[in-house]
Amino acid sequence: MNQIKGTDLLVKALKEEGVDLLFGYPGGQAIDLFNSLYGQNDIEVVLPRHEQALVHAADGYARSTGKVGVCMVTSGPGATNLVTGIATANYDSVPLVCITGQVPTNLIGNDAFQEVDIVGITRSICKHSVTVRDREDLGRIIKEAFYIARTGKPGPVVVDIPKDIQQAYGSDEYPSQVNIRSYKPSTGVHEGQLKKAVKILNASKRPVFLLGGGVKIAHAQEAMTKLAQQTQVPVITTIMGKGAIPTDHPLYVGNIGIHGNYASNTAISQCDVLFSIGTRFNDRITGKISEFAKNASIIHIDIDTASISRNIVVDIPIVADANVAITKMLEYTKPLDTKDWLASIQTWKDSYPIQMNRYPGLNPEKIICQINDMFPDAIVSTDVGQNQLWATQFLSLTGKKQLLTSGGLGTMGYGLPAAIGAKLGNPSQPVIAISGDGGFQMNLQELATAICMELPVIICILNNSWLGNVRQWQEMFFDKRYSATCLRYRRGCIHDCKNPDKCCPPYTPDFVKLAESYGALGIRVEREEDLKAAFAAAGKETKRPTVIEFLIDPEANVSPMVPTGKPLSEMVMDC
Ligand code: FAD
Repeated sequence: MNQIKGTDLLVKALKEEGVDLLFGYPGGQAIDLFNSLYGQNDIEVVLPRHEQALVHAADGYARSTGKVGVCMVTSGPGATNLVTGIATANYDSVPLVCITGQVPTNLIGNDAFQEVDIVGITRSICKHSVTVRDREDLGRIIKEAFYIARTGKPGPVVVDIPKDIQQAYGSDEYPSQVNIRSYKPSTGVHEGQLKKAVKILNASKRPVFLLGGGVKIAHAQEAMTKLAQQTQVPVITTIMGKGAIPTDHPLYVGNIGIHGNYASNTAISQCDVLFSIGTRFNDRITGKISEFAKNASIIHIDIDTASISRNIVVDIPIVADANVAITKMLEYTKPLDTKDWLASIQTWKDSYPIQMNRYPGLNPEKIICQINDMFPDAIVSTDVGQNQLWATQFLSLTGKKQLLTSGGLGTMGYGLPAAIGAKLGNPSQPVIAISGDGGFQMNLQELATAICMELPVIICILNNSWLGNVRQWQEMFFDKRYSATCLRYRRGCIHDCKNPDKCCPPYTPDFVKLAESYGALGIRVEREEDLKAAFAAAGKETKRPTVIEFLIDPEANVSPMVPTGKPLSEMVMDC
């Protein structure tokens, strides 16, 4: 057996796990790690400009490729800058392995320079976190980290490696097997329970499939589309589940939730069987819990026992991988007579379609529909806020198109770095980030990464000069007391301004000049007529990003909406 350094074993392990790209930012306690990566050609190291963006880029890479995203940073601030991204990935079940350098073991607990207890800090926001304390455990711990990240309900794993362990010589063996006694994710499905569920489904008059992010994580879209067709049961999705069947499928109704559409929320309120798969019934989708699908028998398939009956008590719980369960259901199910039910849903769809006609000219719906027309295979990432909600409302998801969004944590600053990760993982697909002017500014330094990595991502900034989602809430529920949401605010402005007008100070920064200063193409679009030309110009770029700033109505709102604490049936249709 050869003796090699810890860092060399780590590089060997990464190669054996199939890692060909990682997102890294070096520093004092990670310098040996990066040293071992130097001069080899199997793993490309991408250097984002901030560790928060780094972990979002790894997240975008992981979501869009289905592979584990790998981060490598130094101790202290390098590690703490990962925290928001780790929590983002944890909520949305994204597989990451985050390797952090740590001070030498003899200094741990001494308040040493750049020492933080990153394992303790991240324990509640990741799937698993561990400090390697013995060089001989390193190979096993890395093997387990990848296994834990990608199996069961996927999630981020933190591996903290002290400097002396990195430098220590030890075995060069990397294990081929994992055996963790306390972690055995479910691989099968309880057929008796599944048959019981199908029996209830078959007897229903007003059934609904509610599909969440788990269906996509399980890569069950194809089987699910067949199941919907075979049963003729309408499909509603959460934001994370959107795309679980193609959005142009006749059985697809739309999104559920506080910003879901009228037909979906009404169908959930009136269904007699709610067959849910791979959703964790987050409060954004349930509205008032006691009223949620209150006349329905609820079936829930989920890989994670902890997700079942946590928020909504269900009648038939089934712990299984969505693809395994759905494929099995194809054997038991039959066409149901849902004609009348589908007709009712169609009437609700026709009566209250989601549209933004009341904002003439350039509005978010037109921008997103242009993306649908011109980039049918794009991977689209979003930031958080109104830009995200409009994207989830208007983006069609068919074919290879994907939507990457921070659903659970709702992390502003996610859009651009996630797009960078997605483009690195999918070089032949167009990648588009949809941001607000607020969210974009949280990680705009990543334009440099996109330039250096020669990535022609398209960044759409829907500039309304506000933190728009909060502004909307202030307008609707706080008597237009626009506290700390105006991004054009200057100290000289009046403090109770309710009506920004033409006297407002100019917007800062100038996004076009900013883009140009990085070497990107910058375009400003103020009129609907210029939409197509802007996207066409961006589409021609092959090696550099394009920033398109769209000046939209500052007061455009997201409609419809369910006010906090209200049931889904009490939607405000025109916000
Ligand atoms: P996830 O949170 O991704 O959960 C996935 C589930 O699938 C988990 O239970 C997991 O255990 C399970 N799973 C994972 N892998 C598998 C597998 N292989 N097989 C089976 N199960 C698996 N969301 C809405 O839907 N509507 C809204 O109106 C809405 N409004 C929002 C507004 C804002 C401003 C923001 C930021 C977010 C909003 N969201 C909304 C998103 C919301 O916060 C949640 O992220 C979302 O509802 C979660 O959807 P989910 O449970 O389907 O997916």
